[in-house]
Amino acid sequence: MSGALAARSGNMSQKRSDGALTITRSGAMLSDLSESDLITVSLQNDAPAINASSEVEIHRAIINNKSGKEAVVHAHCPYTIALANVYGEVFADNECLSCFGPPLLLGDQDKFIVGGYKDQIAGALSNHVVAVVAGHGVFAAAQTLLEAYIYLTALEASSKLVYLQKTLQ
Ligand SMILES: [Zn+2]
Repeated sequence: MSGALAARSGNMSQKRSDGALTITRSGAMLSDLSESDLITVSLQNDAPAINASSEVEIHRAIINNKSGKEAVVHAHCPYTIALANVYGEVFADNECLSCFGPPLLLGDQDKFIVGGYKDQIAGALSNHVVAVVAGHGVFAAAQTLLEAYIYLTALEASSKLVYLQKTLQ
């Protein structure tokens, strides 16, 4: 995950074959995960999730939205968020667009709250694979963690290029 986020920000989850959810521990370093960084919780809303990521309710909502996606990757991607905050849009290049279509931009950059926009994010990811929450970060959902990770990092790479081009103009 290096390059996509700061060491201790962001989180990932994967639905298990037994119907539970494995999610990263609160404060885990995504670039250096070990077994103890993975917490298994119920998919039921508001069920106990001790030590799990503080954004566990968003992950539950995305997995429970009946879209069939079973993996979620979330990161506070600096280039994507900076561009969204300044320009009010998401800059997905042709590779992103052909790969996963236009990402949705949600929320208000001045109103970030942990776990905020849960229903909007889950709704967006029922028929998209990438959603950007202004002032916060990017959520990608897919069948596998690797697929979601590829989508998220592709958008951040696109954003970095746009940022560099705008800076050099
Ligand atoms: Zn976040």
